[in-house]
Amino acid sequence: MSAAETSRIQEYIGDPVSDTPAVDREKLEEIFQDIQADMRYDHELNGCLNCGICTATCPAAHYYDFSPREIVQLLWTENLEGIHDAMQEKIWSCAQCYTCAARCPFGNSPGGLVMLMRETAIKHGMESAKNVLRPFSRVMLKLISTGNQLSPDMITPDGFADWGPNVAKVDAPLELLRKAIPMPTLHTTKTAWEVNLKTSVELYTIWEETGVLDSLETIDENLFDVILDIMDEKRDDYEDWMDEQD
Ligand code: SF4
Ligand code: SF4
Repeated sequence: MSAAETSRIQEYIGDPVSDTPAVDREKLEEIFQDIQADMRYDHELNGCLNCGICTATCPAAHYYDFSPREIVQLLWTENLEGIHDAMQEKIWSCAQCYTCAARCPFGNSPGGLVMLMRETAIKHGMESAKNVLRPFSRVMLKLISTGNQLSPDMITPDGFADWGPNVAKVDAPLELLRKAIPMPTLHTTKTAWEVNLKTSVELYTIWEETGVLDSLETIDENLFDVILDIMDEKRDDYEDWMDEQD
């Protein structure tokens, strides 16, 4: 039986002395069911001993008010209010390194569960998701419109002045390292960002069919509009090019 068919949902959600919980129960259930309905959920949560091995090895737990053990316990005990609460800040501390998944004796993937919670936060247009993603709008623009973001020739002290003293570490044999990247087309911003028209149009179809664009519209309507314009323009260019071939 899948986790979506079982339930240990607690009867009362919210402050026991208040008649008006901050988030109504229906909404809390809807959010949890969205997390639980994902096909990865049953694979990534098999039970929890509450042993804390995941938290002991988690780099994010060392620096933030965050514990993968707590996240897993909230989901395992179906603590709807706690899950909602964790989605307001804590889940964004995870570095997605998956050390936890490699160590958990139950074969859980706390990092994977955090990813499901993040995706659900985006789907529900939570402010926490908007705040976390806002500084990355330039990255998302490039990534969604070209399929690429970073190319090796961007890694220069000038390009990453905000790295501070660490920028010295880019004094590496970059030319040699770039050769380790299998696709020569990804070596420079010029070649990585000038994407073939057909590839672009196919990429946009993938974004549409997989719901990426719907998520973007929920999180950042302005960026969504800009990307829609870029997509329309590329599609027109592709159609013109096709006409020219006839
Ligand atoms: S998720 Fe795994 S490692 Fe973490 S507390 Fe539960 S059983 Fe232990
Ligand atoms: S994936 Fe997240 S929760 Fe797991 S160890 Fe890495 S930072 Fe911690």
